[in-house]
Amino acid sequence: MVEYQIRRRGIRDEKVLEAMFQVPRHEFVPPAYLASAYDDRPLPIGESETISQPYIVAAMSVAARVQPGDKALEVGTGTGYQAAILAYLGATVYTVERNPQLAESARDRLARLGYKGIEVICGDGTEGYSAAAPYQVIVVTAAAPVVPPPLLDQLDSGGRMVIPVGDLLHQDLQLIFKRGSEVATRLLDPCQFVPLIGKHAWPEKPDRFW
Ligand code: SAH
Repeated sequence: MVEYQIRRRGIRDEKVLEAMFQVPRHEFVPPAYLASAYDDRPLPIGESETISQPYIVAAMSVAARVQPGDKALEVGTGTGYQAAILAYLGATVYTVERNPQLAESARDRLARLGYKGIEVICGDGTEGYSAAAPYQVIVVTAAAPVVPPPLLDQLDSGGRMVIPVGDLLHQDLQLIFKRGSEVATRLLDPCQFVPLIGKHAWPEKPDRFW
């Protein structure tokens, strides 16, 4: 997976490559998909949600330029896989999941696998998590119609946010830098994520927006 799907597509960050090599993706996928754990695609994780494709997890981790000791906020815990990668890179991770069942199983899984420094919070991540703000890194792993304002507020000066922004079918990965009150945005890869549902994103039943 690391050689063929990630390094050959241009990911050169050795620390991220090592994280992708070391974090056992098969522990994060449902038993029915065990044989596909290292395939080049997102996989269903139940509750109509997915674990992202390995390449996109790597690309987001590189773009966020995680430094040891950074405080990172992830929105959309899902299985906890991306959170484990961020923790492996040395960040203290706060990860917010709206679905209570997914939050609970991610919390159990991360504890069982021995990851330290990851707190799983159940709630609406479009509000961020102000209790631990500001964050040097924010990673949003669900598709947003716009950048939720609370996330911009909770990004530290010098911080980086990686977020897919677009409609429900297609998004572009945006990399947002904040310096003081200035914000600069760079467009990265096109991507397809499941919807970010919450106060500052899509409503619960977003089909009327298709
Ligand atoms: N990062 C995950 C995959 C994310 S899938 C992993 O590594 O496995 C997207 C997740 O975002 C889903 O679990 C979905 O329930 C969650 N989500 C959607 N809207 C949310 C919101 N407003 N706050 C928190 N989580 C949200």
